[in-house]
This record gives sequence, C-alpha cells and structure tokens, in this order.
Amino acid sequence: MRVYNFSAGPSTLPLEVLKKAQEELLDFAGTGMSVTEISHRDKAYEAVVRDAEALTRELLGVPDDYAVIFVQGGASTQFAAVPLNLMHSGKADYIVTGNFAKKAWQEGKIYGEAVKIGDSSDKVYTYIPDVDKLEYSEGADYVHITSNNTIFGTRYVKFPDCKAPLVADMSSDIFSREIDVSRFGVIYAGAQKNLAPAGVTIVIAKRSLIGDPLPVCPTMLRWKVQDENGSLYNTPPAFSIYMADLVLRNLKEKGGVKAINEVNEYKAGLLYDFIDNSSFYRNDVVPEFRSIMNVPFVTGGADTDAKFVAEAKKNGLVSLKGHRLVGGMRASIYNAMPVEGVKALIEFMKKFELENK
Ligand SMILES: *Cc1c(COP(=O)(O)O)cnc(C)c1O
Repeated sequence: MRVYNFSAGPSTLPLEVLKKAQEELLDFAGTGMSVTEISHRDKAYEAVVRDAEALTRELLGVPDDYAVIFVQGGASTQFAAVPLNLMHSGKADYIVTGNFAKKAWQEGKIYGEAVKIGDSSDKVYTYIPDVDKLEYSEGADYVHITSNNTIFGTRYVKFPDCKAPLVADMSSDIFSREIDVSRFGVIYAGAQKNLAPAGVTIVIAKRSLIGDPLPVCPTMLRWKVQDENGSLYNTPPAFSIYMADLVLRNLKEKGGVKAINEVNEYKAGLLYDFIDNSSFYRNDVVPEFRSIMNVPFVTGGADTDAKFVAEAKKNGLVSLKGHRLVGGMRASIYNAMPVEGVKALIEFMKKFELENK
C-alpha cells in the first residue's frame, strides 16, 4: 500500500511521475536501455537535460541572461560555491533564520568576512526579521537568505530590497510559489525536497555575476564552467535530472507554479486552521511567517508526541517525527503531497486528540 509520506527530504514525488519512470525503466526513449545506463553524451540523454532546463526557465520565468544549471553535492556544497563564485571584495551579508541558514553563514566565514546582519535564534527561529530594518554592509558582494526554513517552518513573505545581489537557498520551496527571478542574483536548491530524488542541485544565476570566480574556486564549483557546458562538464547525476524533468513536465500539466501555489496555500490553510482551532495541538511560528511547505506542531508532551508519530505510521501517515532540533511533529506538505493526504492527516489528528486528551 502506498502511504502518505510527510518526510522533509528526500520526500514524496508525484505518483504519476513514479509510474512513468517505472514504465520507462527498461527502455528509455526507444534506446533499449534504462536512462541510468546510457552515456550522458547520448542525444537521447542530452535532450532530457535541455528539457529540464527549458521547463525550469518556463515555469519560473527565468530571464534569458540567467544560467540554469544542474550540479552535484547538494545545497550544502553550494554554501561554499556561493562565496567561491561571488566573494570578490571578501565581504558578504547573511540573514540567519534557521539551521541551514546558519550553516551557509558558517561556510561563508571560511572564505571571507561573512556578516550576520539578521538572526532569529532569539525566538527559536519562529519568525523572519524585518528585512527593511536590517543594516546591510556597504560594499558587500551579496546578501544570503534561506527562503523557506525547512526545520522550524518559516518562510519569507517579503524578500530584502538590497543593493548587493540577493542569493537565496530555495531548497525547500522552489517551484512551490511564484517568484520574480530578476530580483535575485543567484537561486540554488537541492532537489530532494520539492523537485526530484537526491543527487542534483539546481542553480539559477545571473550570468553577469558569475564570470569571475575566485582563483581558488574548484572547476566543478565554477557556475560559469557548468553553464558553458550545459550542465554536462562531467558525468551528471543522470537519473535525478531525468526525474526532475518528469516532475517539471507533471507540474506544467497541472497548470504550473501559480496553480500549484494555490493548492499549496489551500493545503497549508487546512492544517494551520485545524491546529489553531485545537486546544490540543500547537504551532509556535508567528502566523505571518508560517511556511506552506513544512508545518511543525506539538501536543505539549514528548511522550504523547512519540505516540502520535507511532500511531500515525500505523495509519499510513509516515515520517511525521519533527527534526531532532525541534522535537514534536513536522508535516512536510510539498507540491507532491495531495490534498487528500493533508485531509487524512487532519482526520487522524482529530481522532488522536479525542483518544488522548
Ligand atoms: C535540506 C536543505 C539543505 C541541505 O541540502 P543537502 O542537499 O542535503 O545539502 C539546505 N538548505 C535547505 C533550506 C534545506 O531544506
């Protein structure tokens, strides 16, 4: 039986996509081989990479003067790639709104002066600092943010309006809501939350910013090199890019980012409304900053939380355990989580509340 999988990452993928991959597994595009067995220089494979790039451009409205590349090493490798490609003056600003934002900042410090200009750890990362009141550094090479906080469940509703190029880690909300790409210098995202299996990371970067990486920047981390080689500088994560392509085609069929955003708002609304109207469950995030992708909640007792996670699993609702830094529960309700999955979770929450109050 297929369960409803609320994992934060790697996470659930659209069922239609998994079936399509299954159907094509032994014979991809008439090659008589699976997509994982053919050369990445084969025309049939190159077409996959070009299609994934074209769909990314179309679905996110990426301007022509931006590179769209697929690389390896996860978002965590991009924490280093960002300074290595952009930190020319040796100084950059970071807004620390969660665990991954903090890791990006710490990585930035290896390469230069990474200035923490905002920090919401004083209230356990339950809010996003007011971006209009922050003191941006004069002459910074970029300002780094994390658009959606996967662990604590917050998101930016308004992005900084800063002089330096804005760099955003969008690992857990890319393709979930419409964004104006032209406001960003660089966007990057590990695929395993909202796009594909683990193994591929997407980078969208304004070409005028990436022509001059730092001399010590490894070739593999040079966005310019990846762009010039159409993401085929070396062997790419072939299967993950193929899956990303299928997911993007599926997203286009479903009406694109605007349409999925409406569904995402609806799903998150159902869950937050239920939690807010309950005296048993609680979500501590400042409402205006609540993520529509990751919804952490608690019952108020660690034992009850553990019981909730175990019983939910028996009911086909899996991976609801909260991150080890937060405890409690977390429902990750990415693009691929159907409305029925969220409704099933709410029905279970009602029943559990009645039995355990
Ligand atoms: C999961 C996640 C990461 C880490 O991604 P890896 O691909 O495991 O390196 C970084 N940033 C955010 C926002 C994430 O959700």
